[in-house]
Amino acid sequence: MINFQYARANDVADAVRQIAGSANAKVIAGGTNLIDLMKMDVERPTKVIDITRLPLKQVENTPGGGLLIGALVRNTDLAYHPLVEGHYPVLASAIMAGASQQLRNMASTGGNLLQRTRCPYFYDTAMPCNKRTPGSGCSAIDGHNRMHAILGSSDACIATHPSDMCVALAMLEAKVHVTGASGDRVIAFGDFHRLPGDTPQRDTNLNAGEIITAVELPPKGFATNYTYLKIRDRLSYAFALVSVAVGLELDGDTIKEGRFALGGVAHKPWRDPRAEAELRGQPANVATFARATDVLLSDAKGYAHNTFKIDLARRCIVRALSQAARGTPQSQSSKKIL
Ligand SMILES: Cc1cc2nc3c(=O)[nH]c(=O)nc-3n(C[C@H](O)[C@H](O)[C@H](O)COP(=O)(O)OP(=O)(O)OC[C@H]3O[C@@H](n4cnc5c(N)ncnc54)[C@H](O)[C@@H]3O)c2cc1C
Ligand code: SF4
Repeated sequence: MINFQYARANDVADAVRQIAGSANAKVIAGGTNLIDLMKMDVERPTKVIDITRLPLKQVENTPGGGLLIGALVRNTDLAYHPLVEGHYPVLASAIMAGASQQLRNMASTGGNLLQRTRCPYFYDTAMPCNKRTPGSGCSAIDGHNRMHAILGSSDACIATHPSDMCVALAMLEAKVHVTGASGDRVIAFGDFHRLPGDTPQRDTNLNAGEIITAVELPPKGFATNYTYLKIRDRLSYAFALVSVAVGLELDGDTIKEGRFALGGVAHKPWRDPRAEAELRGQPANVATFARATDVLLSDAKGYAHNTFKIDLARRCIVRALSQAARGTPQSQSSKKIL
């Protein structure tokens, strides 16, 4: 048993003050990841600051026509929110593809962005892991790496980011609102999570002591032509081998704008502007989708057990783009799940 102090924060300023005042403090929201990590001795905070009473539970329209989602909005509440179901159905689908109903009832928006990798060696303190213990080595590179990255990995770490919600947020070009002792700032979603490089212990570009207060969605929601497709070992309660969030804006059969982000393949949700450029102005057909997919996967690299993911990703992207073009998203909408 590791002793730690428990404290509640009364407001955002109080939370920031308490984190700044304690060298190894962690905030806790839904607790669905942090508690597991503490039980497994991976995280050892000296102080746990409960932020669940902070007023960050609203989903509201922004003056610019977007949506501001408080960091403490539960995953279930967000997926079923009428503004999300109506304008950002790809986000509702992605959330409902993650975890289980009980977990989604607890998990928060901020916590989902900051959940840690599911690499089994990261959770096994008997094994070397550069993310958990920098400089100790990576057990996955020559170990069992079926779930690991095929894009953007490094010699130090080949872990993937496990979130479904983040894949849709990357495609939608969300922004992350954060605050800390040096004030407030807004981070573009594409810059929020990091590639492992030689500092895999850092998952994000959040500075020490900063907390997430909200996630902002821009007005464009791709509510007509979208898909979230998740391929996994079981239909429920399993992390993605590969997932894809797609949004298309069509003019007849021609693609005005096309975006796609991948999950389960890299240390962060993966987008490639070169691949999306292949879609612009082109007919919405399988030949176009295959060309864009080839560009995105041109740098993909497999390891001993996960090379199958490259072909899986190829098929998954073409299928998701085809479904989106037809306006038949197919994968779980929150309504169908009910
Ligand atoms: C069995 C299981 C299956 C799962 N399957 C999936 C899946 O298929 N897809 C998927 O996407 N997810 C899945 N999850 C993960 C789940 O979605 C996350 O655990 C959850 O989203 C984390 O949110 P939380 O509020 O519980 O975070 P917590 O556990 O409270 O916190 C997680 C981390 O975020 C930090 N944190 C939390 N809120 C803030 C904030 N506002 N500002 C700064 N730091 C903050 C905490 O300090 C901690 O480091 C699964 C989890 C489990 C246990
Ligand atoms: S892939 Fe990353 S998280 Fe997994 S063992 Fe290697 S360093 Fe650790």
